[in-house]
Amino acid sequence: MWTIFGQDHLLKRFEPALQQGRQSHAYLLCGPPHVGKMTLALNLAQALNCLNGQGVPCGTCTQCTRIADGHHADVRVVAPGQGEDSRSARTMIGINDIKEALRRVSLNPYEGSTSVVILDGAESMSDEAANALLKTLEEPPPQVMFLLLAGNEGAVLPTIRSRCQSMSLTPLSKDKMAERLVTQHQATPEQAEHLSRLSRGCMGWAIGALGDPQVLEQRQADLEKMQETLEAGLETRFTYANEVATLFANEREAAKDLLSIWLRWWRDLLLIKEGADAFLHNSDYEESLKNQASGLSTAEVVQFINRLIQTMSNLDSNVNPRLAMEVLMLNLPIEAGQV
Ligand SMILES: [Zn+2]
Repeated sequence: MWTIFGQDHLLKRFEPALQQGRQSHAYLLCGPPHVGKMTLALNLAQALNCLNGQGVPCGTCTQCTRIADGHHADVRVVAPGQGEDSRSARTMIGINDIKEALRRVSLNPYEGSTSVVILDGAESMSDEAANALLKTLEEPPPQVMFLLLAGNEGAVLPTIRSRCQSMSLTPLSKDKMAERLVTQHQATPEQAEHLSRLSRGCMGWAIGALGDPQVLEQRQADLEKMQETLEAGLETRFTYANEVATLFANEREAAKDLLSIWLRWWRDLLLIKEGADAFLHNSDYEESLKNQASGLSTAEVVQFINRLIQTMSNLDSNVNPRLAMEVLMLNLPIEAGQV
């Protein structure tokens, strides 16, 4: 059975292709963080190697269970900061990581029928790494599937993109997720309502937050720090810029998550300005949002949202993170009444 949930539009395409053995040798799985890209990738690796399935993984044979446990010799996950290149480039997939993966797949599968290479963060490949991969995508060895996972499809090199079949995972509706959290993950209705609102349709995030209180604690700490920065002078704002830049250098995804928290906050400010309070993402901070919105004009909010989106895009294009963050802080509006 598929453990991925809410992506039936993709499974309808994969199942017949897998049953008839006419799947592509490379897919680009796109969607926001925690939407289920890795779950789908592992499900596909299972479906390809399953001893019982015909296009659908059984989930119980030795192949399926070894893949689910991360022990299968022919299923390899390559991600920034994990392989040989991690010392020099913690936020990139480097040439040595790709070479090692390609060397493995040039051999016959060892314990299953198909080798699977999962590139988690395909937009973070160095140019050298992307070129090495490109050559293999042009002439793929038999019995290999490449699954490239990307949060931002546009940041993947067009030459790589054109050699993969693109598939977009879609966030779940709030109601569908809340129901699933209660029936399958033992959430209380209150938890399900809160997490489904905060998760923006990304099931993996909601399940993670349900199992680990630190996820919500971190969100609270991030929001408090953001509000302090909004109320502070330039010196504190620059210190914050430096902290985010350092985080970006060490844990790229965590820094991107942090900027997403900023973006959702500023979108909430705009919703309040437009009188659409019912749609707030951070509804548990409604009072703070309203206080802040009263000191800002709609134009200031819109302008800063645009700056923030531009900064996130620049960071994906590997600009200097410290400079990008400092420029963002210089453009942070000063609230009315603040000295
Ligand atoms: Zn199986």
